[in-house]
Amino acid sequence: MNKNREIIVIGGGVIGLAIAVELKLRGAEVTVISRDVQQAASDAAAGMLAPMAEDIADTKMLDLCLRSRWLYPEWTSKLENLTGIATGYLPCGILAPLYGDGETGRIGDEETGSKTWLDRETINFYQSGLGQDVAGGWWYPEDGQVDNRCLMRSLIQAAQNLKIEIQEGVTVQAIQQRAGNVTNIMTSQGSFTAEKYVLATGSWASELLPVPVKPVKGQMMSLRMPHQPHEPYPLQRVLFGNNIYFVPRQDGRLILGATVEDVGWTPHNTPQGIQNLLNKATKLYSAVADWQIEEFWWGFRPGTPDELPILGISPCDNLYLATGHYRNGILLAPVTALLMTDLILEQKSDPLLPHFSWQRFSNQSQNKTVNSLNHDFNNGHNSLNVLNQDSANSESNGINLSLEVKEKSPMTIAASPLLSSHSQIISEDQPLIIAGKTFKSRLMTGTGKYPNIEAMQHSIVASGCEIVTVAVRRVQTKAAGHEGLAEAIDWQKIWMLPNTAGCKTADEAVRVARLGREMAKLLGQEDNNFVKLEVIPDAKYLLPDPIGTLEAAEQLVKEGFAVLPYINADPLLAKRLEEVGCATVMPLGSPIGSGQGIRNTANIEIIIEQSQIPVVVDAGIGTPSEAAQAMEMGADALLINSAIALAKNPPAMAQAMGLAAVAGRLAYLAGRIPVKQYASASSPLTGTIS
Ligand SMILES: Cc1cc2nc3c(=O)[nH]c(=O)nc-3n(C[C@H](O)[C@H](O)[C@H](O)COP(=O)(O)OP(=O)(O)OC[C@H]3O[C@@H](n4cnc5c(N)ncnc54)[C@H](O)[C@@H]3O)c2cc1C
Repeated sequence: MNKNREIIVIGGGVIGLAIAVELKLRGAEVTVISRDVQQAASDAAAGMLAPMAEDIADTKMLDLCLRSRWLYPEWTSKLENLTGIATGYLPCGILAPLYGDGETGRIGDEETGSKTWLDRETINFYQSGLGQDVAGGWWYPEDGQVDNRCLMRSLIQAAQNLKIEIQEGVTVQAIQQRAGNVTNIMTSQGSFTAEKYVLATGSWASELLPVPVKPVKGQMMSLRMPHQPHEPYPLQRVLFGNNIYFVPRQDGRLILGATVEDVGWTPHNTPQGIQNLLNKATKLYSAVADWQIEEFWWGFRPGTPDELPILGISPCDNLYLATGHYRNGILLAPVTALLMTDLILEQKSDPLLPHFSWQRFSNQSQNKTVNSLNHDFNNGHNSLNVLNQDSANSESNGINLSLEVKEKSPMTIAASPLLSSHSQIISEDQPLIIAGKTFKSRLMTGTGKYPNIEAMQHSIVASGCEIVTVAVRRVQTKAAGHEGLAEAIDWQKIWMLPNTAGCKTADEAVRVARLGREMAKLLGQEDNNFVKLEVIPDAKYLLPDPIGTLEAAEQLVKEGFAVLPYINADPLLAKRLEEVGCATVMPLGSPIGSGQGIRNTANIEIIIEQSQIPVVVDAGIGTPSEAAQAMEMGADALLINSAIALAKNPPAMAQAMGLAAVAGRLAYLAGRIPVKQYASASSPLTGTIS
């Protein structure tokens, strides 16, 4: 594992593989690290090559897409020659029918060589059977399609034939950086080192770096077109309608897509999504209502705020970014591979690249990480076996929501030693990621209020936590109960979260945060820039000062801290703190040490819903049931100190809290049943003795 490689590409979707193949063809030694090729959006896409039909407004993006489309014939034949696997590339043209009502805006567009207006009669000549409301449409003769699943097979084979090292089933967990360079990457199979790295992890990019990429779900389905011997299939060209498209494959499959849903990582096909597709499809071309359904699936497009990809060098000199291709990643694969290879091997930056640099987001996204509520990160390729009689679709894998051991994505959520030792509960959960650092445990604890150091040590171990917060001031001044504390914890295993407890103003908190960073360094955590920000002027209720907290957070973010602010459960403040670049928000459930539990459920729920960074419920939790409640609500983690330290038996309570955090998380992932007004019998009522 420790050999030094030349280039590591992280992510084995169409973008990662296309770059890897191009790099290798130009003489570089390449390794691809891929968590799970089946979860890639590349497998879930429709494969339209549609720069014109997509009506792309950004002129540089349009240039990029057109260049890629022009590269397609040569690129796919190169792959086909290398592998003997057809990619299904077909420059079949795209018809974009428009309805008379509400869509007339585009009817008046100008014609150019690459698009022609067709009136109702002519469009029906091109494609019979279109809906009655179709008033005409555009014909884009140069757009086309590729069978993206065949393309993926061809790319994987090409990589294998070229002897590219592919590490499939390996997850990159963190990118280790030092002085503006990536030193190595930490993976589920140990550490890997290379001279250069490429991040091509699609929708999952922000798990590893603070880039604003988020999943945009699309549901899809396929039908089988009826076919008479010696006759062509009824659909020959892509139909690009109003929020519906038909992509007829050469083997008789018809791909229907796609919904566009901003629902995070919510998996599955839903009745509403499919109904939506079918309503639109039958309006455009009613014959499909009688055709055989073959398959349903969904995928996550890597979306960015401006819907443009992120391409080019990263803030690290030896790390390159190729992600955020949103709706056009299949189309953009060849040009991305070409431009990135020029950049990586020859330091040649195409004039288009700066437009797609990560820096366009740098003001908003510095030091941000995303919410890690990724409870099913497979793109679901769910064959309906009953309906699917075509073995050509056997590549489709059923996804699995149950809690089972899956070797390819081993993310343990078992935090407590008790759980992990005797029932290995492994689910398709993501770890907790804060400022790029990965944690398995979702419980953080503290060091204050314990009866003695031993109780604290045992409790930390029993809780299974990996983050312990330490009051910088109390350790520095060796306040009562804090003598020898710094030495009592094994900082090789526990990540220190210095906190600014005791600070009443923003200025004080900033000064103490700096001391905290030095303290972490002295204790061997050189790269620890975390600070739990507490600005608390109010001695009675210990409620944090929102204005002072925001001011201090802004300053600390500027100084490069990963700021975890302790706040009242105020959704607007949480959003502002996220915007200034905080790494998490830590809303209180009720006043510190009060053990009143979660008194502000509604506000915390809003914070969780809105937040793109982890939400850590802090303060007030008194019992494991309250800890579980916070996790069931969807909190990413908990910080619990008093309830453990002041319990009669702190280690036992610590363990209970650890279990509760796991139980709550599991329950959240499992999804609770709806609350109903009336009973519903567990066993059927038929067949009972009367
Ligand atoms: C429903 C739908 C329809 C679409 N239709 C079209 C279309 O018609 N035309 C078009 O051009 N585009 C289309 N797209 C968009 C296109 O699919 C994507 O833009 C493209 O696939 C993105 O490719 P990628 O390689 O960046 O990401 P992905 O294909 O998602 O691949 C990312 C890979 O990285 C891996 N990975 C993630 N995190 C890690 C990690 N930490 N360690 C190791 N590996 C990791 C994942 O396992 C995955 O295999 C569609 C997308 C969807 C969802």
